[in-house]
Amino acid sequence: MSKTIQHPKPNAHKDPRGWLIEAAAHEGFLLAGIGPADIEPVNRAGLVAFLDDAFEGDMGWLRDTAAKRQQPQAMWPDAKTAIVLGMNYGPDHDPMDNLAAKSAGNISVYARGRDYHDLVKGKLKQLAGQFAAQTGHAVKVFVDTAPLMEKPLAQTAGIGWQGKHTNLVSRKAGSWLFLGVILTDAILPYDAPETDRCGGCRQCLDICPTNAFPRLTGWMRGVVFPI
Ligand code: SF4
Repeated sequence: MSKTIQHPKPNAHKDPRGWLIEAAAHEGFLLAGIGPADIEPVNRAGLVAFLDDAFEGDMGWLRDTAAKRQQPQAMWPDAKTAIVLGMNYGPDHDPMDNLAAKSAGNISVYARGRDYHDLVKGKLKQLAGQFAAQTGHAVKVFVDTAPLMEKPLAQTAGIGWQGKHTNLVSRKAGSWLFLGVILTDAILPYDAPETDRCGGCRQCLDICPTNAFPRLTGWMRGVVFPI
């Protein structure tokens, strides 16, 4: 009689990385990466240049919170590690089809479902709470409401890079991603950072229905879009 071999579940204390990857997938995150809670100098310089060019427009909070946005430790001095999660929101049809209906309004795909702040935050809290309970480490969760540069942290954690359209792109999951970050005072094994793989491609720029990028891409030459 054959016996089924039961593989033991990763233990958050002994194998925090393995535990996090498995628990994140269980919560519905397609991507999970772990990196230092550190914003690279190029991204800090990018934030300064972005504000120097007044690219924040009427998003005045970007200027008001610039000092905190420079490094996670400006918000939480104990932050050592960023656990970055990505949830795919891609629809099951090609949303470009909607553009054919000229008399109908078109809502951006990311805004068609539940408020992603609520959706992702609930799952992040669940994950972070379990991690804290099992390891005794402190955690804080972030979903696009605090002055935290999630995309640079995501690239450092290896889950993607900032494409020419300024969003995060993953080789595995594309760029329709809700991002969430758990900061912790734990020091964990880090993933290798991802590199910019856009090269000479500019498909996202050419297909943009509102031609939103020319100024940005001109501004972005040699500078990483910081937010
Ligand atoms: S330039 Fe190409 S690879 Fe880079 S984000 Fe745009 S479509 Fe993706």
